[in-house]
Amino acid sequence: MSSPSRSSSEGQARAADALRDRQARADACLARFRDEPLGHFIGGRAVGGAGEAFENRSPVDASLLGTVRSATDAEVAQACHAARDAFGTWKKLPGGERRRILHRVADLIEARAEEIALIECMDTGQAWRFMSKAALRGAENFRFFADRATDAGNGVSLPTDTHLNYTTRQPIGPVGIITPWNTPFMLSTWKIAPALAAGCTVVHKPAEWSPLTARLLAEIMLEAGLPAGVANLVNGIGETTGCALTEHPDIKAVAFIGESRTGGLIMAQGAPTLKRVHLELGGKNPVIVFDDADLDRALDAVVFMIYSLNGERCTSSSRLLVQRSIHDGFVAKLAERVRRLKVGHPLDPATEVGPLVHARHLDKVLSYAGIARADGATVAVGGERCAGAGLSEGHYVQPTLFTDARAGMRIAREEIFGPVLTVIPFDDEAQAIEIANDIPYGLAGYLWTGDVGRANRVSLALDAGMIWVNSENVRHLPTPFGGMKASGIGRDGGDYSFEFYMETKNIALALGNHKIQRLGV
Ligand code: NAD
Repeated sequence: MSSPSRSSSEGQARAADALRDRQARADACLARFRDEPLGHFIGGRAVGGAGEAFENRSPVDASLLGTVRSATDAEVAQACHAARDAFGTWKKLPGGERRRILHRVADLIEARAEEIALIECMDTGQAWRFMSKAALRGAENFRFFADRATDAGNGVSLPTDTHLNYTTRQPIGPVGIITPWNTPFMLSTWKIAPALAAGCTVVHKPAEWSPLTARLLAEIMLEAGLPAGVANLVNGIGETTGCALTEHPDIKAVAFIGESRTGGLIMAQGAPTLKRVHLELGGKNPVIVFDDADLDRALDAVVFMIYSLNGERCTSSSRLLVQRSIHDGFVAKLAERVRRLKVGHPLDPATEVGPLVHARHLDKVLSYAGIARADGATVAVGGERCAGAGLSEGHYVQPTLFTDARAGMRIAREEIFGPVLTVIPFDDEAQAIEIANDIPYGLAGYLWTGDVGRANRVSLALDAGMIWVNSENVRHLPTPFGGMKASGIGRDGGDYSFEFYMETKNIALALGNHKIQRLGV
């Protein structure tokens, strides 16, 4: 029989082997991006591109994953023309045929899910435990919208005594889709799948900090039978390539996920060509824990909703509002959990928090420890860059907990977008609502209470597009997703997505019995 210390060292050796094996598989998947600059995918084929190339480095150790070309205005125009030319055929394809192709996309995503997740971990720094699920969520998004392709155009009938009014929906045209770096593959599918199901064609521009899996998706969609030009991809810098896409006259609508400031720019850039815009923007979401809540479940959810996905998540609950009567005990347990979070290589299955996406983002997140202290809050846990073997070369930050915060402080108002939680005490329901709403954002809100009446009152009072009661962010795809205030304009999910990607048309069909005013007789 082996001793406990021997079996634990055997376990560690097995884990190290498993990590090495996964790293080798990731390296093999990444090899294709090393030699040639990554270009674009236009009209059903890879286009090298003539624009300037920028470096794409891994958050794990700052090593070069490859270079990426920024699409020129002419290349963006080429992609928009391809989308325009393909629109006529794609919109006329019967919904059942679109459904079949989009299910095939989902099949191929599932078949390549491991490759997608391996690349995404190395490109973004997100941990394997989350990215392996996110790749499959991408397939689920395609399946969900594939099944709605047949009735996306359905409308309502609004009859009168003299006319049958009925509505129908038709795809708006080629759309621009601009996505961020935090969970790039999943978020791209969340936008592209409904657009294609609606009958729109697409030009996608992924974020420059995590561009790799967008190429895989473009290849998958072509292999699944999407006609050339229906889904195009341009890589590049937001201010140039992204801007050109939002300004192009062939693009009828822009679906954007990113920072609130960029959302404002996109509205302005699209204004001269009267673009419809859908903006999914930043958040500083409260989780409110009342003293009558199931505190064990609340604690699990609080930890999960800020430290999963490196805290680089728009719906993360980055402000904990906790009732003063339970504050000290709850925060003590929370601090203990935060100290125990496992920071490590994103491909290690044990890792809970990986490295942050980019050196610039690391600096931004780290700067908040100084801001917290200067404003009078306490850095109860973390606040520093991680040191030590395997960590010091990467963008690793200690999971961080700020306590003794007050509502007006910068750490309580600004989106930090890292594994950083700010705790603010409150006395009663009214004060909790006041603090929760006292920010520019309004994306999500979470509340924990055993009182149903209070759950309803607070849910109705919170200025946020989505509220979860006694739950973390558990998504149901038909439900509306989106925010208020600086968190965005518009909703995604189920039929809400089609409201954006489609135009509603009313047809008034006379029954022949109404009197027409006769002029000029
Ligand atoms: P970002 O706004 O910097 O960039 C997002 C995308 O916009 C990138 O592809 C970028 O290249 C492009 N871009 C930048 N400037 C542009 C311009 N002038 N014209 C056109 N495109 C331009 O955001 P980010 O840092 O990549 O992502 C993080 C942000 O995204 C956070 O604020 C986060 O909350 C938000 N986000 C929101 C949701 C949501 O559903 N509400 C989901 C995920 C992320």
